[in-house]
Amino acid sequence: MPHPRTLVVGAGIVGLAVARELQRTRPDDEVVVLDKEPQVGAHQTSHNSGVVHAGVYYPPGSLKARLCRRGVGLLREYARERGIPYDEVGKVVVAVDRADEQRLVEVERRAAANGVPDVVRLGPDGLRDLEPHVRGRAALHSPTTAITDFPAVARALADDVTTGEGRILLGHEVVAIRPLRSGVEVLVEHAGERTRLTADRLVLCGGLHVDRLARMAGGDPDPRIVPFRGEYHLLAPERRDLVRGLVYPVPDPTLPFLGVHLTRRVDGSVDVGPNAVLATAREGYRRRDLVVPDLLETLTWPGMRPVAARHWRTGTAEVLGSVSARRFADAARRYVPELRDADLLPGGAGVRAQAVGRDGSLVDDFVIERLGPVTAVRNAPSPAATSSLAIAEEVVGRLGR
Ligand SMILES: Cc1cc2nc3c(=O)[nH]c(=O)nc-3n(C[C@H](O)[C@H](O)[C@H](O)COP(=O)(O)OP(=O)(O)OC[C@H]3O[C@@H](n4cnc5c(N)ncnc54)[C@H](O)[C@@H]3O)c2cc1C
Repeated sequence: MPHPRTLVVGAGIVGLAVARELQRTRPDDEVVVLDKEPQVGAHQTSHNSGVVHAGVYYPPGSLKARLCRRGVGLLREYARERGIPYDEVGKVVVAVDRADEQRLVEVERRAAANGVPDVVRLGPDGLRDLEPHVRGRAALHSPTTAITDFPAVARALADDVTTGEGRILLGHEVVAIRPLRSGVEVLVEHAGERTRLTADRLVLCGGLHVDRLARMAGGDPDPRIVPFRGEYHLLAPERRDLVRGLVYPVPDPTLPFLGVHLTRRVDGSVDVGPNAVLATAREGYRRRDLVVPDLLETLTWPGMRPVAARHWRTGTAEVLGSVSARRFADAARRYVPELRDADLLPGGAGVRAQAVGRDGSLVDDFVIERLGPVTAVRNAPSPAATSSLAIAEEVVGRLGR
């Protein structure tokens, strides 16, 4: 009998981790990864904050809580084995007013319930000892929160896949999917030519396009991926000593984003950001990027109306922060008062794939869906890079034989 063949769509960190896990656990299976881009990890995997989240925020019992905790351990070990930078710089979540302080209680409860190690609560003096330029009424310190190089992790995973005799076909875009009586057929476009590939199983890890891929496979159009651009500024090199580790505000529990934070990177630079602005293209890294079908898909999605009604105030503030460095700096100045507008230099941007339900819900947890021979990772927002090796275990565990 021929060995079963699995196609994985998406050579981001999640798709590559799934392909590697398949090879590790089913060495006789054939694995082929397809990505439309000319290199691996081209999108969210290489446009993020580089933080290995320890699991403080996520609702206990959620997939995020479980897979983040498992993922951290697996990633720490993998980075060590592969010589990838992994630095436990630690993080503080800072409450600046009474409302923040009340919300911090819930973050502390979740951190304890999720089993995040060594989290402690700090008062203003303890916070100052740890981060001399940060001010707050209280803070949570998570010393095991780390930073790493996610694009390097993706390249190492890709190496593992090809060394294990898997194939990674770059520049190959999946344009149609047809379930067969047994297995699945995929139409792939490469260098202007279309070819058909068949497989026993298909795993969709398409990030910003995964809803389209799932629809091609006969899946529900709900939820839709809505792109939110996150813009960063760089802290001027001579001001990098404003923070020692990672400094975050207390997140707004009604939003899936963490708020503007200061993040040290493995190369020593410090980012300030990201904000969250509705993007006019799914891979729209610049404000002027516009892809009309992407924008229409966002605007015509029924779930966007309740989202806009609920979050217009925050949305307006984020747009203003996007066009004004002063407004952007104001967000970080709440807890780093010495930060000056002139300390912020232009930085990069990433686009988050945020799943939005037809009812206007901002889907928070990871979602993995099975449609016969097709398994779709339908929502893999932050901390999916942190959790990638554990998401891969989960996906492969659900594939069945
Ligand atoms: C601004 C920002 C900050 C973040 N910060 C963090 C953080 O600090 N820590 C953390 O853990 N997570 C963070 N995240 C989240 C994290 O980056 C993502 O959850 C993770 O990278 C998702 O990986 P992925 O492989 O699912 O998606 P991606 O990396 O986007 O990969 C999807 C791949 O699918 C391919 N593809 C799509 N459609 C097709 C098609 N039709 N045919 C072929 N290929 C296709 C794309 O080309 C792409 O390469 C952040 C995200 C953003 C945007």
